[in-house]
Amino acid sequence: MNGVNLKSCCCHFSVGMFPVQKEVQVTVIGKVFKPNTWKILALNRCLEQYFGLVKWYLQFKSTSKSFLHKNGYGEAKQRFNLNTALIQTARDKAVEILKSFRKNKKRDSVLTVKRISIRFDSRCYTFSKTTNVLTPYWLTLSLDGRRRISLPVIFGEHQRKRIEEAFSQEWQFKTVEMVKKKGVWCAHFVLSKTILFSEPETVVAIDRGEVNFAVSVAVSKTNPKKPLRGQFWRGSSVKRVRGLYNHIRRKLGQKKLVSKIKDVGRKEKRRVNQQLHIIANQVIEYAKQFSKPVIVMEDLNGLRSGMHFSKKMNRRVCTTPYFKLQQYIEYKANLKGIQLKYLTKKETKNTTKECHRCGYVAPKVNGRIYKCPECGMEYDRDLNACINIAHRVMSSMRWGSREPPRTLK
Ligand SMILES: [Zn+2]
Repeated sequence: MNGVNLKSCCCHFSVGMFPVQKEVQVTVIGKVFKPNTWKILALNRCLEQYFGLVKWYLQFKSTSKSFLHKNGYGEAKQRFNLNTALIQTARDKAVEILKSFRKNKKRDSVLTVKRISIRFDSRCYTFSKTTNVLTPYWLTLSLDGRRRISLPVIFGEHQRKRIEEAFSQEWQFKTVEMVKKKGVWCAHFVLSKTILFSEPETVVAIDRGEVNFAVSVAVSKTNPKKPLRGQFWRGSSVKRVRGLYNHIRRKLGQKKLVSKIKDVGRKEKRRVNQQLHIIANQVIEYAKQFSKPVIVMEDLNGLRSGMHFSKKMNRRVCTTPYFKLQQYIEYKANLKGIQLKYLTKKETKNTTKECHRCGYVAPKVNGRIYKCPECGMEYDRDLNACINIAHRVMSSMRWGSREPPRTLK
């Protein structure tokens, strides 16, 4: 997972709010390199305690940190063998999980937490570069009152570049999430940077299409009435990969080869993600050609904090390629210092049904071409929707696109 957290991008754009300072975050993942047995045991024990503590905090069913602190901290300290900082991050985690669950919950769903990572903040970890030959990167964690362990960490090429940037103070180290996946421990470093954004001059809207995998359009401040050239991503490579693997899976299913199906699933995921990375890069390139761009997308879900609920719930949104694409775009936009704004579902209402030129809202849209009965405009349906998304942001910045939308009586 390329975990992305953006605390600050959900605020509204309004006139006079610029320049605005925003904190953007990216996550860099490294692998713990050949830890010895007692270190693994110590980590496992810590995870067990931490997981227990998060669940214990969840029993309070409260999203108030001060309430949990007042009523839980003393007992937590007695019951769980963890240092003070970890007790606090466990409490914060419980609050995040509960909030996210309540926001996304379906009827009758029960909160079950299957997996969790241990969050270390600056009080309980140090990360340093040494002259060690195996790997220069060493992470020291305080687990409980007395115990500290030092772990060598290795990075892939891209990730290493980012970590080096953090050592040269381009990014700041925030927290480290220790994640255990299939018996392997990884360290997820959350890095942050404060960027001063000036008022955007181009709105770059990205939307998923009915036929096109993604479509984007740019509208500039100097000529808001005339959208600039759009770009389509048919996503045929993604569809091809998915189609191929669906076929393979069906075949294996007939032969009841369950473990093979899982292997195939992993391979598929890797190949799809590769394609999504390519598309995300192209989206960023597209945005970068315009002056002071802001990328605007619909937020598919409030679920963006890397929480792990039941498998079913995770699968529902997190694994759709489009959601992944959004995550990648967000990650890359943060790296490049490009502004990004999410619209809620409510804010993108009727974007497919509305005529971007006159604001007429059609009860239904048939076919690939949007034909407006009011003003006679004929336009590609996905592109029309995308322009409407751009308009929603533009109106909040008072770029004045057109008359307010009218609806059919
Ligand atoms: Zn119209």
